[in-house]
Amino acid sequence: MSQPAASTTRPGTPAIDVRDLHKSFGSNEVLKGIDFHVDQGEVVCVIGPSGSGKSTLLRCINRLEEPDSGQVLVEGIDIIDPETDLDAVRSRIGMVFQQFNLFPHMSVMRNLTVAQMKVRKRSKGEAVKIARANLERVGLADKEDAYPAHLSGGQMQRVAIARALSMDPDMMLFDEPTSALDPELVGDVLEVMKTLASEGMTMMVVTHEMGFAREVGDKVVFMDGGVIVEEGDPRELLSNPQHERTQAFLSKVL
Ligand code: ADP
Ligand code: MG
Repeated sequence: MSQPAASTTRPGTPAIDVRDLHKSFGSNEVLKGIDFHVDQGEVVCVIGPSGSGKSTLLRCINRLEEPDSGQVLVEGIDIIDPETDLDAVRSRIGMVFQQFNLFPHMSVMRNLTVAQMKVRKRSKGEAVKIARANLERVGLADKEDAYPAHLSGGQMQRVAIARALSMDPDMMLFDEPTSALDPELVGDVLEVMKTLASEGMTMMVVTHEMGFAREVGDKVVFMDGGVIVEEGDPRELLSNPQHERTQAFLSKVL
């Protein structure tokens, strides 16, 4: 298995630290002052109704969206500061989307090696070796020559996870990784994520899988209307929500 790139982050520095984050699209204020953090090695699950700002929050963390104000610190580095080497910070963050975002015209192996060679400057041989180790990790060692169109959704998502892992990220952000999957394919993807969590990967997971949040999450954050309404221990929050909005949401999804 590949070794994580050396990280210079001091122990105790949160992996992600978001302070008073605001983001509007035109007159639509989508994030209305978000404060939260993810510690190193922690798994934080973000839940909440559609349109509450979950994806926007995730995308602000690696500046796929430009925050309007507030602070986003990734391993202590302010990503909004124009002096920050954004590519260097982004290369520490693995991202997995609902729609997989694999390159359709490339084989699985090429999907896993192209950024390793380009961004990590690895030789082809080294990139292939790391890709194979990560395909093994997600249970798809026999698929390196396949094209995405010939894979199931669950397999595509596991390839997307293996691709992200091949870049040796310090943390992984998942945006509804199982929402586009047929129900019978969800379990394999969650299993891979569960293993990653048990290996100590720092993870932020937007999900509707309350079982996963309860079992794997160290913390659950409930968002509604651009604010964090409630956060806490998953078992506590999911079985005994304190706020009316959390109760209303959970009564619909549990
Ligand atoms: P969630 O992931 O919780 O469903 P989103 O963060 O995707 O919520 O969206 C929150 C709100 O922001 C929605 O009203 C959505 O229409 C709006 N929004 C998201 N992205 C954009 C964008 N690029 N341009 C304009 N509005 C957007
Ligand atoms: Mg979303």
